[in-house]
Amino acid sequence: MNARHGGCHCGRLAYEARFAKPLTDYTPRACDCGFCRKHGAAWLSDAGGSLVLRLRGDALFYRQGSGQAEFLACPHCAVLVMVTAEVAGMTYAAINARTLDDADRLAGEQPASPQKLAATEKMERWSQLWFADMKIVHVDD
Ligand SMILES: [Zn+2]
Repeated sequence: MNARHGGCHCGRLAYEARFAKPLTDYTPRACDCGFCRKHGAAWLSDAGGSLVLRLRGDALFYRQGSGQAEFLACPHCAVLVMVTAEVAGMTYAAINARTLDDADRLAGEQPASPQKLAATEKMERWSQLWFADMKIVHVDD
């Protein structure tokens, strides 16, 4: 497994993502919904990898659109770091590729339009594509 790090700008949200393949094999998905466009977010995940978020203090949680996914941003430096969704009791997540330390090694972004999918299609897609069983570890100052 290929362990990579990333997070927000000030360090309150820091993650370790493990990828099954070299970073050059991954194509971030630039979502065309209004929220992601305003952030310039492109999403990255590996269903065969793993993701742990180390959280110092609180994250800012936000739901929009169909409300099925929850976006996590830093309440201090305002960087949008990841998105999560609960499917059948498991937390799935994707990271904003722009928050990865080695983002320049990824393949080029491709457009994605999850807003065109029905609610059940989204859940099915995310549970197949996103990091499975994402964990949050709370870290004290
Ligand atoms: Zn921050």
